[in-house]
Amino acid sequence: MKILVINAGSSTIKYQMINMTDESVLVKGLAERIGSKQSKITHKPTGKMPVEFIQPLPDHEAALAIIFKALIDPDCGVVKRYEEIDGIGHRVAMGGDYFKESVLVKETESSKIEEYIELAPLHNPVNLMGIQACQKILPDSLNVAVFDTAFHQSIPAEAHMYAIPYELYEKHAIRKYGFHGTSHKFVALSAADLMAQKIEDLNLITCHLGNGASLCAVKGGKSVDTSMGLTPLEGVPMGTRSGDIDPSIYPFLYNKGYKVEEINKILNSESGVLGVSGVSEDFRDLDEAADEGNERAQLALDVYHYRVAKTIASYLVALGKIDGIVFTAGVGENSGSTRQAICDKLASLGIQLDEELNQTRGKSLIVSSPESKITVMVIPTNEEIMIARDTVEIIKNL
Ligand code: ADP
Repeated sequence: MKILVINAGSSTIKYQMINMTDESVLVKGLAERIGSKQSKITHKPTGKMPVEFIQPLPDHEAALAIIFKALIDPDCGVVKRYEEIDGIGHRVAMGGDYFKESVLVKETESSKIEEYIELAPLHNPVNLMGIQACQKILPDSLNVAVFDTAFHQSIPAEAHMYAIPYELYEKHAIRKYGFHGTSHKFVALSAADLMAQKIEDLNLITCHLGNGASLCAVKGGKSVDTSMGLTPLEGVPMGTRSGDIDPSIYPFLYNKGYKVEEINKILNSESGVLGVSGVSEDFRDLDEAADEGNERAQLALDVYHYRVAKTIASYLVALGKIDGIVFTAGVGENSGSTRQAICDKLASLGIQLDEELNQTRGKSLIVSSPESKITVMVIPTNEEIMIARDTVEIIKNL
């Protein structure tokens, strides 16, 4: 089976075609700056020369039309006919509490995804646009939606309810939904393989530390708590997002004359390690600045390490005991110093890293020492494979 995976962002579309016989990637590509005059598509077929399409792309449909043409192009294509594409898996940010797993998208599902635009105004509209463009360009295609929130639907009410008037949950669906679910699920399953144990027997904490960052407590393969909430702003500090703050800071700033949009911008785009350091949102820059003696860069890193470690420790309540901790995504996969600093703060739990193994970057490996009471792992995430696997599961039963 060949599955096309589409991950539509506000001005980008990432795509991959995967041959599910051996899960090999046939092509991957990126359409960027959609909606501007400088838009381009980079199309990289495995074993062939990459191709760039530089032309204005007014919207996602225009970008997908070119991507589809490229897929069957005699030179840079990877299939001869569209019929060879067995299914298309789409990443969708918000599935609310209606979508507990991935689904084939027909009319009802489309309108439900549309309903949730209110909860994910930046993501769901473009995700839906991607699905509708595929349905329009290839009317016979089978489109499956894979939700960032679905894996977290198993989180019990005591962990997903906010302690605010219950009516706000009933009226406006305000509760913790969580994000990065596809990534947390993928690395949790991979961790069980790496530890050579059954996922059902394991209590894991998965740390997706990229530009956005979230942690997840996974008990027996099911999410039982996660750090992001109604929106991806809750939880640990991130590149530019504040993570948890005293909610009163919001009205405090408002009363000081800041407009709602300004406060939103501050908390989403000007906070996190960028906000504290004043240097950068990129951890490589922060490491460099801290090494050169920049105190605020060091402070930003200290705040980050402390808050991630504190969240890990708090999941003892959700899990009872912790068998493994997984680090993934840009920072988690590549930064040995971040993993070390976080684990140092958790030494009282009996966590011990192997300094040499912890230098590893971008490959799956156990990086704790044999004496460590908790197995610490680095596992590169692969949301595309997870989306493709879910798509196969759905369409093979049709
Ligand atoms: P996104 O959430 O956008 O998918 P990624 O998971 O790709 O983000 O993570 C991007 C971040 O990873 C970068 O902003 C950078 O801070 C971090 N990163 C990448 N390589 C390294 C490295 N070698 N050391 C530290 N941080 C790194």
